[in-house]
Amino acid sequence: MEQSSIEEQKYGKCMECKKLGKLMRTSILGPSILCQICDSNLKAQKFGRCIECKQENTGHNWCQTCNSKRFQNDFNNWTSGNDDIDKFIQNTQLSAWDSYQLLEWIPYDKFSKVKYIAKGGFGQIYKATWKDGYIFHWDVSKNQWKRFSEKSNKFVALKSLNKSQKITYEFINEITSHIKVFSFKSLDQIIRCYGISQDPDTKEYIMVMQYANKGSLRNYLNEKNKKIYNEYKKNKYYETNLDLNLQIWGYKVGILRNISIGLRRIHDKGLIHRDLHSGNIVCNKDLSRITDMGLCRPVNYKELETMENSVYGVLPYLAPEILRGQDYTEASDIYSF
Ligand SMILES: [Zn+2]
Ligand SMILES: [Zn+2]
Repeated sequence: MEQSSIEEQKYGKCMECKKLGKLMRTSILGPSILCQICDSNLKAQKFGRCIECKQENTGHNWCQTCNSKRFQNDFNNWTSGNDDIDKFIQNTQLSAWDSYQLLEWIPYDKFSKVKYIAKGGFGQIYKATWKDGYIFHWDVSKNQWKRFSEKSNKFVALKSLNKSQKITYEFINEITSHIKVFSFKSLDQIIRCYGISQDPDTKEYIMVMQYANKGSLRNYLNEKNKKIYNEYKKNKYYETNLDLNLQIWGYKVGILRNISIGLRRIHDKGLIHRDLHSGNIVCNKDLSRITDMGLCRPVNYKELETMENSVYGVLPYLAPEILRGQDYTEASDIYSF
């Protein structure tokens, strides 16, 4: 995986000190805009220094050097049963420069109250309780990972992919797309993937995802409309100048804005979603988030010969040129939006 390897560098002018030199390919302010010295200084300013090795932290309470060693020491204590998936998870753990970039192998018995919710495009989706929550940072005093789960929302969505034992490539691709796009910039636009698990009965692999407590966009819109309308009646807003339509449109514009930011984050990472429709937008709290990135591909991705002319997606959201057999582009994503 070519994710966030800090060593790779490009030559150019540093945005901070304006000197010509080697630029960090991945740095705190964005790709290829800072030299190594400015990047270290900014990191030290923003994240402080690691208590153990005294180097500047690479993320919030996160030292990549120290934490990657901790993960590595633990590699022998777990396995998914599939070499590709093991390597994939291990890579994210070694290269994570903040907690949100890593994946974990989460044994299925860590989940409780597993409940079927819906059939997704390519598999089933379940809701479950994950009491432990995700890794947040290393707790030096307790010598263990400090985990985080919201008191109000300990749920996760478990997404199984049919025949995921065989289609590891697609499975890994979908998760890679999530972690590539997910960052502090897109905390509120993209659904996060925490790790991978396996259904003990079917042996299917499962993506462990952030749970959207307001459900699908359509569901959320229905409820929100009802709520606004009830408040309008209850508070007798109709006796004032408050315009009901304006209120409804006010929050709808917010939702649209958030989706468009999310789409931009995907395009910024050089990916195309290729399957954007209202069913792939879910709401958590009052924020709309993009999910189902299973068909996400790099911009210049070429279909395999055998897959040529394969058109997928939901018809009303498909750009006309796709139906004429042309490639998916950023523009076709925007058409879907
Ligand atoms: Zn510089
Ligand atoms: Zn350290």
